[in-house]
Amino acid sequence: MFQRILVANRGEIALRVIRACKDLGIEVVAVFSEADREAPYLALADEAICIGPGPSVESYLKIPHLISAAEISNVQAIHPGYGFLSENPHFAEVCRDCKIEFIGPPPEAMRLLGNKNEARKLAQKAGVPVVPGSEGLITDDQEALRLAHAMGYPVLIKAAAGGGGRGMRVARNDISLQTGLKAAQQEAQNAFKDGSVYLEKYIEQPRHIEVQLLGDRHGNIIHLWERDCSLQRRHQKLVEESPAPNLPESVRTAICESAVRLAKAANYSNAGTCEFLLDRNNQFYFIEVNARIQVEHPVTELVTGIDLVREQIRIAAGEPLRWQQKDIRQQGSAIECRINAEDSANAFRPSPGRITRWVAPGGPGVRLDSHACEGYQVPPNYDSLVAKLLVHQPTRAEAVACMSRALAEFRVEGIHTTIPLHREIFRHSAFMAGQVDTTFIERHWQKDRQS
Ligand code: ADP
Repeated sequence: MFQRILVANRGEIALRVIRACKDLGIEVVAVFSEADREAPYLALADEAICIGPGPSVESYLKIPHLISAAEISNVQAIHPGYGFLSENPHFAEVCRDCKIEFIGPPPEAMRLLGNKNEARKLAQKAGVPVVPGSEGLITDDQEALRLAHAMGYPVLIKAAAGGGGRGMRVARNDISLQTGLKAAQQEAQNAFKDGSVYLEKYIEQPRHIEVQLLGDRHGNIIHLWERDCSLQRRHQKLVEESPAPNLPESVRTAICESAVRLAKAANYSNAGTCEFLLDRNNQFYFIEVNARIQVEHPVTELVTGIDLVREQIRIAAGEPLRWQQKDIRQQGSAIECRINAEDSANAFRPSPGRITRWVAPGGPGVRLDSHACEGYQVPPNYDSLVAKLLVHQPTRAEAVACMSRALAEFRVEGIHTTIPLHREIFRHSAFMAGQVDTTFIERHWQKDRQS
């Protein structure tokens, strides 16, 4: 096992990894940008190293700075968290060349799955259903028009290198397809330095169901059941839960087995997530693999009782998986709310600044993963997640009630957060009945607000 690990990340996931290391008796080195100098979790690490100025391109995304920090501090492994360099195969290769273990999948699997178009092809080969769409990348407008006519509108233009909901455009007719193609290519080029796009049939009001995977370096891969992440705003998840409500058992099993087949086809190891859309006839389609730990991983930890971050570390150290598929049970119901520093009443505008009051919820069945506290200054430089509020209860109805109670207890002042929106969601009859699709927020909230 490793004696010392470096966490190449910040915020709540840096704290999450620090905690996992402490639980395993491993020393941990944190890194920080100048904007995060005062972050309280840095004091919990055995060492903290400044890796550059606030902008992430000059710090958290700067491979030479991270590798230098790892070498100076004499670590054997790097945990990349999520975002930043977590899905960058080049970073994983540099780690390998420097004889530092990268806590994640092998770079070859990452490269293969990181391109959505390649991942689609692999899924098809593995017999996993994909959303109907183009065979490969779209190179000219005429071809796009032909395809769209064959599939029928609406279609979705997607960036092959896309992520975080960026580089996606819905087209409902020829004109919006032509203008959308240009816009999506441009957006993808700017965001990912890769302007290639492909087409998918746009599934109307789908649910987003994803499967947590865990594989060791000895060829064993299991799933840890599904999460329902249908409650989104502009393709960004807001609420996640497990098990997915109102999902027929046969569909649940088929989705989970498909995810394992795909992971095996990619020679995958470590933690990963296979994402699917479910249409109104409960037909499921693969959309992408996230080759890293995800924000919403604690939902699965609560229902399965397995600490995913600790397992990631054990797997990277070469240990075999400690479970077989039949050992993995989903117990009770777990739900997560993402608490972002955003003004949900005002077009979800970012709301950085100093937190003047922070009263955290607690009590039975409540888990709060957060790096924030009273007096903490939320920097404007990074994503706006300040806390993940989770509950775990025997049934979904109890989990919903417990979350409402926890949200009522949670007081944050000085910045705006998404807590008020979550309070409303947990009172909504459709949500309470488990009737959510990816357009829920748009249909019930966004129209009445300036967004
Ligand atoms: P990203 O990598 O940017 O997060 P994904 O491919 O994971 O993109 O898709 C994110 C979200 O976009 C999905 O959860 C869903 O809400 C929506 N989406 C993606 N593909 C489709 C599709 N073909 N039809 C309808 N919605 C889609």
